[in-house]
Amino acid sequence: MTHKILILAGDGIGPEIMRATELVIAALSEKFGLDVALEHALMGGAAIDDCGEPLPASTLELASSSDAILLGAVGGPKWEKIDRARRPERGLLALRSELELFCNLRPAVLLAPLAASSTLKAEVVTGLDIMIIRELTGGIYFGEPRGIQVAADGTRSGHNTMVYTEHEITRIARLGFDIAGKRQGRLCSVDKANVLETTELWRDIVTSLAGEYTEVELSHMYVDSAAMQLVRNPRQFDVIVTSNLFGDILSDLAPMLTGSIGMLPSASLDANGKGLFEPVHGSAPDIAGQNLANPLATIQSLAMMLRYTLNESMHANRIERAVARTLDKGYRTGDIYSEGAQQVGTLEMAELVVASLGD
Ligand code: NAD
Repeated sequence: MTHKILILAGDGIGPEIMRATELVIAALSEKFGLDVALEHALMGGAAIDDCGEPLPASTLELASSSDAILLGAVGGPKWEKIDRARRPERGLLALRSELELFCNLRPAVLLAPLAASSTLKAEVVTGLDIMIIRELTGGIYFGEPRGIQVAADGTRSGHNTMVYTEHEITRIARLGFDIAGKRQGRLCSVDKANVLETTELWRDIVTSLAGEYTEVELSHMYVDSAAMQLVRNPRQFDVIVTSNLFGDILSDLAPMLTGSIGMLPSASLDANGKGLFEPVHGSAPDIAGQNLANPLATIQSLAMMLRYTLNESMHANRIERAVARTLDKGYRTGDIYSEGAQQVGTLEMAELVVASLGD
């Protein structure tokens, strides 16, 4: 079966990290039989320059009809002064909401050769492999009513609403159980059920589903405790599932324990497992166009696409092994460079990964 992949290179370092990642796709299809058809479209600042819109209708149409989408990054100083509603980042938010991508996956994996890049001691983080699952389209970021009110005496008050329906909790929890079942079989649901009724319901529903997933061991943790445990003993976690607000914070905290932002992939999935895959980092305008960017976050986002949407785990494993071997051999882009390593550029790093695909 031919997988239809839409490539959205975007802005800044987007086009160079995507060119590098396309080398890996080409090698997988030419040498290892991956069957893909690539389409390319404009998004973010590049699309604004072309037609005045960050997410043109033609791009959205292609995104809807593709099996999966690979995105570089959007935004940059050139578009910072235009109307907020038409900025590059709005295109990304619109794409996520149009495609109903309610589930955000952020792995935090510490590859052994990069143990020194972590801010924590090597003995605490060596072997770290956590998957954080964040609910992405509900909770306090979207709840109504919301706003800032001014009282008669002029004092202002701000309010937001934290709300989750049974349906929203069930679908993200099921994904959590499914993903834990394919990993080490441990799911930790993070809430604040001792204080917030919304998350009391969250805990009730997650608990009620556990009987259907007997291969998965379920635990619960309050978010404050989870933040502490992620720094104290992060290896106790396999999969964490949590709400939009708590996930926003924890999914930045945990992956950063592993070192550079240039290494971190992510995925956003819909109810059928179709998704948008992108590096966690932005468009890095400070290093754009200089062949300095680390392409490994995007290359590993491609691996996530192959595993979670296209059911091509063999190719995903092949990429991840090749990335680990390339780092093992001592090759580094500037952002993960340490003494004694050999520094390489964006394209060279991708070529080295390609060379290791068959090892
Ligand atoms: P950034 O992630 O682009 O850059 C932060 C720092 O990390 C910079 O010093 C940059 O050089 C470095 N960096 C980032 N990716 C790297 C890589 N692959 N290799 C090596 N170094 C890397 O964040 P920022 O500077 O806050 O934002 C720049 C622009 O990107 C802004 O316009 C912002 O809105 C946008 N942005 C886009 C996304 C997205 O597309 N999903 C996410 C975050 C920020």
